[in-house]
Amino acid sequence: MQRHVVVGRTAQLRTEKIPKFSTGLLGQGLITYRNKRYLLWQQAAHRMEIDGKSAGSLVEDAVVWANQHGLVVALKDPKFVNPDFAVIHAPLSLMPVPYPRGRFELAQQVMPLLNRLVDAVADDEGYLESTLGPAALYDTFTGRLLKTLQTTRSARSALRAAGKEVVLGIHRSDYMLDEPSGKFLQVELNTIASSFGCLSALMTQLHLYMASRLPALEPSRLPANPTLEHIPDAIAAAANSVGYREEGGVVVMVVQPGERNAYDQQWIQLGLWERHRLRTVRMTLGDIAATATLDKAQGGTVTLKTGEPVCVFYFRAGYTPADYPSEAEWAARELIEQSNAAKCPTVAYQLAGTKKIQQDLARPGILERFISDGRDAGLLREFFAGLWSLDPKDVATDPGVAAAVVDAIARPEAYVLKPQREGGGNNLYGEELREMLKVGGEQLSAYILMQRILPPANRSVLVRNGQWSESETLNELGIYGTFVRHGKNVLLNEQSGHLVRTKTSSSNEGGVAAGFAVLDSPYLVD
Ligand code: ADP
Ligand code: MG
Repeated sequence: MQRHVVVGRTAQLRTEKIPKFSTGLLGQGLITYRNKRYLLWQQAAHRMEIDGKSAGSLVEDAVVWANQHGLVVALKDPKFVNPDFAVIHAPLSLMPVPYPRGRFELAQQVMPLLNRLVDAVADDEGYLESTLGPAALYDTFTGRLLKTLQTTRSARSALRAAGKEVVLGIHRSDYMLDEPSGKFLQVELNTIASSFGCLSALMTQLHLYMASRLPALEPSRLPANPTLEHIPDAIAAAANSVGYREEGGVVVMVVQPGERNAYDQQWIQLGLWERHRLRTVRMTLGDIAATATLDKAQGGTVTLKTGEPVCVFYFRAGYTPADYPSEAEWAARELIEQSNAAKCPTVAYQLAGTKKIQQDLARPGILERFISDGRDAGLLREFFAGLWSLDPKDVATDPGVAAAVVDAIARPEAYVLKPQREGGGNNLYGEELREMLKVGGEQLSAYILMQRILPPANRSVLVRNGQWSESETLNELGIYGTFVRHGKNVLLNEQSGHLVRTKTSSSNEGGVAAGFAVLDSPYLVD
């Protein structure tokens, strides 16, 4: 059997042999090829290759659709007078990714449990301090966050006693499908600046549009993705609980200077305005330090230079040391933490989302301290990968930890070494991992060792900067959760949508903003 393959953008045609597909599973929408199961639309993708013109035109239509519907990132091309206003479509995958429906739905179901878990862990500051203390000795960023927790404690206690504590969680739990076990295993739980929620909802809509074009895609297999509504609704619920709406209260979105992914964030701003008539002010931590004031006598009200009180601080920055270039930014963080505004996240929530806490919760009995219902805890543990502390005390006393370290030195490809960092590009693999473990020492307290999750490979058409290429890919699923609590009353605790990021199989890391991955969406198969 002959086929023509389109090579690169120039759409040159070449001919090569392709093996025959076995069509035994056609009725279920699946085909088998070299003992792997492929969904029908992948065959459709192969058909597209046969006709280079239609592949190219489908990509073109997808890019135009993305531009027409705001599935965009800032171009940041300095040749424009205002580079923030020049946009380009977000990096995207032309077709969705097959996921087992049952596993996907289970990941959705546990999200409210994870929201509760974060809330319970963050509430136990003694646990945060004792668990993160050794890591903080070697990781000054974690150390500084812990210090901020301590210096703001009395102000926070006073707010709580006055019934003014409003907690807002916007989380994203990330998973990869582990081929050997067939389970989604948790990569990490993000409690700060969980991004791409809104662009991901648009990605679902783009794939629905693709489904309208390609009969092999069934629209009903693309699950609903309500981030565009849920994220603004959660922020608004927190703002309404804090008050100040009559006084012109605003949401402050804490941003990084020069953010390229501002359009994802601005979808939230638009949702806050259109759905709730809440105005958003974008400020860096530096801006806040320079212009916002905290009135302790007024119960911790923060007022902007314009006189507007702040109802909510929503962070899309502040998760990396680079966001705190001077003491001014730390002063801003401290001011926010002492204020009566809702913070997404509080310092405690941010610490509850660290990799060290993720690892510690996986130890026997620790998760169960925070989730008392045995069935719920058991459900969550289904998603835990192997995680090990590298604190020399644990390596010396826990035979399980010692064995994992020995095995990781022998087989580094089966593990990932993670520091206490967020934002992509920080993990160590392979030889680098082996070398770090061989050297050992106290500084490894700031790292965790993790089982390497082995997701199945897919083939995807990746579209970046208007150019497409077909690659072997891996993907990562994120489930969003929103949570609002006022004092003891939980006002909202929901699963709020999803994100799929797809990267070429050869890349270790998965960030879209960091340039490693493209946006994608799930296609549920039974
Ligand atoms: P970050 O806070 O930098 O996003 P992550 O824990 O999400 O840290 O790791 C970054 C990327 O590294 C992930 O998106 C994923 O692609 C890869 N990765 C992380 N942990 C694992 C793992 N246990 N197995 C396989 N890949 C992993
Ligand atoms: Mg991540």
